[in-house]
Amino acid sequence: MRELLRENIATLRPYSCARNDFTGEAEVYLDANENWQDFVGREDANRYPDPMAVHVRKALEDVLGLPFDHTVIGNGSDELIDNLFRCFCRPQKDTVLLMPPTYGAYRVFADINDVRVENVPLTPDFQIDMPAITSYLAEEKGRRTQESRLKMLFICSPNNPSGNAFPLDEVRTICSLFDGIVVVDEAYFDFNTQESAVSLLDEYENLVVLRTLSKCWALASARVGVAIASKEIIAVIRSMKYPYNVGGPSQAIALKALEQADQVQKGLAMIKRERERLSVELAKLSCVVQVFKSDANFFLVRMTDAAGIYHYLLGKGIIVRNRSKEMHCENCLRITIGSEHENDVLLAALKEYDHA
Ligand SMILES: *Cc1c(COP(=O)(O)O)cnc(C)c1O
Repeated sequence: MRELLRENIATLRPYSCARNDFTGEAEVYLDANENWQDFVGREDANRYPDPMAVHVRKALEDVLGLPFDHTVIGNGSDELIDNLFRCFCRPQKDTVLLMPPTYGAYRVFADINDVRVENVPLTPDFQIDMPAITSYLAEEKGRRTQESRLKMLFICSPNNPSGNAFPLDEVRTICSLFDGIVVVDEAYFDFNTQESAVSLLDEYENLVVLRTLSKCWALASARVGVAIASKEIIAVIRSMKYPYNVGGPSQAIALKALEQADQVQKGLAMIKRERERLSVELAKLSCVVQVFKSDANFFLVRMTDAAGIYHYLLGKGIIVRNRSKEMHCENCLRITIGSEHENDVLLAALKEYDHA
């Protein structure tokens, strides 16, 4: 791992903040230039938050089985993606490998960090092209130099925007073929039935798994994501992240949600029931060409005329995502599974479109 790191990160002397210098309980806190007053009725707002998010990480271990010593919290998993680029990828030198169509943020963070992107697309039915990945990785090993190499690759499973999860065996194979960092983004893990890549952490030191509370846990605005990886990788991210990257109110809200895991499970069951219903009902419509199998809380749907239907729905106050310009996604909309009522409104509008 050491030789994968950027030199400036490997030799970084981290910022030492007040909350790291003293972590016990005290009566008088005069160490962080805070204001003791509370004008908004929230005790967690006037003090700097715990940089290590100890309570949240304990709850993540208790509730989700994410090992405490192997986690770091991000301001959403988006922050952790950016942090990984900044830890491992030398601007204008290193490259990352993506498998489009996939989550758009990977490319944006690559661009921001001035890191080149290479693509090995998914197959037209959105599976990992294992022969192409295998030969790409072998070929890259042959041509890499001190000055430039492939540092990181992203596997989004279940994948956004296609909605399908990839077999864990393929993740395992890629981890053993590639000697750089393998990032498995499990933002939609909860909606899936497959085992998590977290189970591979003991085997592969180059694996980083990302989770978020934004989707199944219904906390998109709280901005709480988590990276799970070897202690070495976690130590590096802790050393370079903004010390107070997740605010106190957000940590408190995350804890509250994790204490209500039963409620969240019920909510999840409801979304899965709606997923089943929507997949059947959408497939009956004549404006729908194909509903792709979803392991997530959205569907990729091939339409007869995605742009036209997008604007038609927009006119009815229903917002979906037009993904037609993404690779293999010609005429495809991405539709989030909403409440029963929201889904009814969507289905009624599409039926009306069919009969117009
Ligand atoms: C929504 C999403 C994220 C972002 O999650 P945050 O934790 O809200 O930043 C990450 N990856 C994928 C694939 C997503 O769809």
